[in-house]
Amino acid sequence: MDLSLTPEAERYGEGLRAWVEDNLPQEWRDVPLGTGNDDDYVAMRRTWGRQLAEAGWMAPHWPVEYGGRGLGVDAQLAYLDVMVGSGAPEPMNTNGLNIFAPALMQFGSPAQKERYLAPMVAHEEVWCQGFSEPQAGSDLGGLSTRAVPDGDRLIVSGQKVWTSYAHFAQLCYLMVRVPGESGGVTMVVLHMDRPGVTVRPLRNSTGSSEFCEVFLDDVVVDVDDIVGEIGGGWRAATFALARERSSGMAQRSLQMARELDRMVGALRAEVPDSTPETALVDAYVRSRAVDSTVRRVLAMAADGQEPGMLAPCAKILWSEGHQAQLGTLVELAGAQVSAAGPGWSDWTRALLFSRAETIYGGTSEIQRNLVAKAMGLPSDRGQG
Ligand SMILES: Cc1cc2nc3c(=O)[nH]c(=O)nc-3n(C[C@H](O)[C@H](O)[C@H](O)COP(=O)(O)OP(=O)(O)OC[C@H]3O[C@@H](n4cnc5c(N)ncnc54)[C@H](O)[C@@H]3O)c2cc1C
Repeated sequence: MDLSLTPEAERYGEGLRAWVEDNLPQEWRDVPLGTGNDDDYVAMRRTWGRQLAEAGWMAPHWPVEYGGRGLGVDAQLAYLDVMVGSGAPEPMNTNGLNIFAPALMQFGSPAQKERYLAPMVAHEEVWCQGFSEPQAGSDLGGLSTRAVPDGDRLIVSGQKVWTSYAHFAQLCYLMVRVPGESGGVTMVVLHMDRPGVTVRPLRNSTGSSEFCEVFLDDVVVDVDDIVGEIGGGWRAATFALARERSSGMAQRSLQMARELDRMVGALRAEVPDSTPETALVDAYVRSRAVDSTVRRVLAMAADGQEPGMLAPCAKILWSEGHQAQLGTLVELAGAQVSAAGPGWSDWTRALLFSRAETIYGGTSEIQRNLVAKAMGLPSDRGQG
C-alpha cells in the first residue's frame, strides 16, 4: 500500500504547518482529552475549529460546496500529521465531521447536506451523538427511544445516556425506533433547543462532565430531518460507527507516540533514578504499532477501500496500548501521578480519562467480537 502523499496534499500540509505554527497558542498544545473545566475546554476546541475553518484548512477532502477544499482523501492524512506534530487539540466538531458527516453524505438528502455540512465545518453548530441508551449500549439494536409519525413530523420520547458534550451541542444525530415498521430503527437530526429536550451532565472521574443524560419528552422532529429512510437507520448507524473507529479516533491514536516522547521527558526530569528501560521500550513498540495500523486504515480510506477488520484492530491496539502506556508512567513515577502531585496533574487527568477509551466507540469485547467474526470464529457470547 502506498502511504505517500500526492504533491497537492503535500503542498496543503506545508501551508497548514506554517499556519499552525503562527496561530496555535502554546497553552492549547498537548491538553489531555476530555478533561479540565468544561466551559474552557469546549471554548478552546470550538475556537480552534472555527479558526481552522475560517482560514480554509478544515475538511480538506470535502467538496467545496460543503465547506471543504475539494482535495483528495490523502489531504486528511496531511491534516492529521500537522495536528499530531503540533499537539493541537481536536476541533470541537470532530464527532460530527468524522462520524456523522460521512453517513449524511452517503444517506442524506441534498437539502440536508446543504443545510448541515457547511455550518458543521465552520463550527457554527456543534453536534453530539445520540446512540446509547440505559439498556442499549453495545446492543444498539435494542434501543427503545420511540418516534411516532404525526403528519409531517415525528414525536420522539425516550432517554439517551453517555451523550458526549450534549450540554454544548445545538444538533444531535439521534437513533430512534418507529413503532410498527419492520425493525423501525431510524436515524434523525434532533435540534437540541426543541421543547421537551432535557440535558443533564454527568460528572466523570476526572471531575469534568464530558458526557450527559438526554431526556426526550414528546420532542418534535421534522420528517425532513430523517436521514435516509424510516427503518433504514441501521445501515446509516453501522456506516457511522465504522468511521468512528477509523478516522474518528485517528488524531488521538496518532498522538500516542508524541505523548510517549513527552512522558519520557517528564520522567527524565522528575524521576531521574528510575530504571525504566524495558517498560518504556515496550510502550515505544506499542505506539509504533498503533501509528502504522492507523495510517494503513487511513490510507485504505484514501484509496477508496473499506478498512474492514483493520478498524477494530486499530481501536483495540490504541485504546489498550494507551492505557498500558499511562500505566507505565504510574509504575515509574508512582504515587505522584495517581495523586495528581505537583507537575503531574495533566498526566493524572490523561490517566483517568484513558479508562474510557476501551469503552467508547464500542468496547474492547465488541471489537474482539468483530475481529472474531471476520476470522470465522464464534464471538465470546455468540453474537456481536
Ligand atoms: C467517555 C465516553 C463517551 C461516550 N460518548 C458517547 C456518545 O457521545 N454517544 C453515545 O451514543 N454513546 C457514547 N458513549 C457510550 C458508549 O458507546 C457505551 O458505553 C458502549 O457502547 C458500551 O455500552 P454500555 O455502557 O451500555 O455497556 P454494555 O453494553 O452494557 O456492556 C457492559 C459490558 O458487557 C460487555 N458486553 C456487552 N455485550 C457483549 C457481547 N455481545 N460480547 C461480549 N461482551 C459484551 C461490554 O464489553 C462491557 O464490558 C460514551 C461512553 C464513554 C465512556
